[in-house]
Amino acid sequence: MNASFHEIAGAISRANRVVILSHVRPDCDALGSQLALALSLQHLGKEVSAWNEDGLPDSYRFLRKSDLIVRPPVEPQDFEIAIALDTASQQRLGSTRGAIRRAEKWINIDHHASNPGYGDLVHIDTGAPATGQIIYEFLRAENLPLTDEGADALYAAISTDTGSFRYPNTTARTFEIASELIAGGVNAGAISKKLYESYPKRRVQLLGQILPQASFDAGDKVASMALTNETKKRLSIHADDIDGLIDYVRCVDTVIVALFFEELPEGRIRVSMRSKDDRVDVNKICCEFGGGGHPRAAGARIRGNLEEVRSKVLKRVFHEIAESL
Ligand code: AMP
Ligand code: MN
Ligand code: MN
Repeated sequence: MNASFHEIAGAISRANRVVILSHVRPDCDALGSQLALALSLQHLGKEVSAWNEDGLPDSYRFLRKSDLIVRPPVEPQDFEIAIALDTASQQRLGSTRGAIRRAEKWINIDHHASNPGYGDLVHIDTGAPATGQIIYEFLRAENLPLTDEGADALYAAISTDTGSFRYPNTTARTFEIASELIAGGVNAGAISKKLYESYPKRRVQLLGQILPQASFDAGDKVASMALTNETKKRLSIHADDIDGLIDYVRCVDTVIVALFFEELPEGRIRVSMRSKDDRVDVNKICCEFGGGGHPRAAGARIRGNLEEVRSKVLKRVFHEIAESL
């Protein structure tokens, strides 16, 4: 059973020391949600920390006041409330989890289907296209402040998790919220330019390296790309440069499932999966490999070398396509 917004707001209002967390390798939904909520609670006079294992990626520094989001401290700290946003499992909190010695209450606000509902007050809305949308509804329903910087952050969160309002998770309410944010002063064009037209040159150079080696299998229904540690090192690739590259094969007309395999330094492979058909649930497949996500966008981290993992995961996807379509 979901905790109501009112229960969550009540718990927060009684607290002073609050920490807000989001998932490792954060995307804009994670960071934007975190920033908007942190600024709102700061505005109420609370002592707010906002931590992410990876700190703040360069690509999101354009969000005003985003430097509030930092790596967790080495010395663990105590809080009255810890809030996890957009984070499908406790494990995905990474090193932020260990930086909290004690929290009297854990709040979990998310939209991932695979979220098991960890924490004391849990609000999971799998119908929401972005955690940013849930945060907007929460702040509005509970009459909590939404600062100008927070409004920008929520617009960016919602825009990115809906693929610029294109994915099927986009609802009429999503457009209403975008409209309200823009009416309130958000500059949609300026934010979109920062999000989608301000990549570092090395991202396009990376694409030039990996796209020629993309493979199309199962009658071109399955497309996959891979990125090695060697290429990352050679082109000085940052984690956030890789976000969204999967879309270059996902967008091919025949493709139903797109995959991206990224070698990680510690002997694991980070797999991203996208589905373009409701009959193929990539969350289900990623859960089998210890990951999770949404039916149409999911991921996992799998131990093994690139070729082993790629062939094992592709085999599972081919099987799913043969069974489901
Ligand atoms: P990505 O492919 O990294 O963009 O992730 C796609 C979606 O799946 C996002 O909503 C992620 O939060 C989620 N996700 C990615 N990896 C995992 C994982 N290991 N466990 C649970 N959810 C994940
Ligand atoms: Mn996310
Ligand atoms: Mn999200």
